[in-house]
Amino acid sequence: MSNVELDQLREQLDDVNLKLLTLLNERAKIVKEIGKVKETQGVNRFDPVRERYMLDKIATENEGPFETSTLQHIFKEIFKAGLELQENDHRKALLVSRKKKPENTIVNLKGEMIGDGKPHFIFGPCAVESYEQTAKVAEAVKARGLKLLRGGAFKPRTSPYDFQGLGLEGLKILKKVATEYDLAVISEIVNPADIEEAIEYIDVIQIGARNMQNFELLKAAGSVNKPVLLKRGLAATIEEFINAAEYINSRGNGQIILCERGIRTYEKATRNTLDISAVPILKQETHLPVMVDVTHSTGRRDLLLPTAKAALAIGADGIMAEVHPDPAVALSDSAQQMNIEQFNHFLDELHAFMPIKA
Ligand code: PEP
Ligand code: MN
Repeated sequence: MSNVELDQLREQLDDVNLKLLTLLNERAKIVKEIGKVKETQGVNRFDPVRERYMLDKIATENEGPFETSTLQHIFKEIFKAGLELQENDHRKALLVSRKKKPENTIVNLKGEMIGDGKPHFIFGPCAVESYEQTAKVAEAVKARGLKLLRGGAFKPRTSPYDFQGLGLEGLKILKKVATEYDLAVISEIVNPADIEEAIEYIDVIQIGARNMQNFELLKAAGSVNKPVLLKRGLAATIEEFINAAEYINSRGNGQIILCERGIRTYEKATRNTLDISAVPILKQETHLPVMVDVTHSTGRRDLLLPTAKAALAIGADGIMAEVHPDPAVALSDSAQQMNIEQFNHFLDELHAFMPIKA
């Protein structure tokens, strides 16, 4: 065969390829139309009877040279791709996804714009224990020009015999301190029934790791007009974490801050394993601000600073860490909270590490 003949055959083949391309896309368009009709009729997209009919028709019409089984295999792939096309049309992008909203969501906490590209800080005791204890931390936070104070009033503890928090009394203390020091306060709510009352006292609802898939709580938090800080579950995948945020958003509340707080692994050197790469993944996949809790992820005071640096370097929108006036006598998480002096040192070191807005 001459080179000229070969070139001619190749040209013919290119031509057929383009015809197949046109036909495949023509088929895809029809499949999409069928998908729409099925959606309105509420019937299943996959129809085995119809697929069998099409495969049989291919068998009877086949004149070769391809074996019928080969052709059926190829057509099965085409059918499968068509079905996927219908499902992609159906599966709408999540509200929290970047696909749905490319620009960053900024959550305004009394003027602290979380997600504006600058680092923000949430400090405060693990639990609100008394007015004096909370006010001491508030004073230190205020003295550093910061705005966000945390403190647990409803504490989800591993043991039912451990300090469970002051409950509503704790929220009242937070409210008093917030007013006196002009701070925004954040506290965990564990019961959907408490949300309505709690939002009278706090500026941010925290949903803790143990409740990340408490769907009734997520729906309740999604139904109010109050920012929510959602922490990643102890054993939650990033996909599950994003879907938990979607629960909140789906009810109308889009003011959500995600918080990576470590996941449980076989590693025992730290309380949890800080999944640092979750930060850029969450920022890519969603438009929500992402903070890192260095206290609960490490459970180690000596690791608070290096992990906070890592979090800021990788693009976190902020850091959460626990501060107690006297950690040695704290009623919870005594081993890992910073005292006021350590807190000031921590902030100085972070300031030195990168320029930080006060
Ligand atoms: C907390 O922040 O007080 C807390 C209990 O954290 P987590 O839910 O991440 O364990
Ligand atoms: Mn704690």
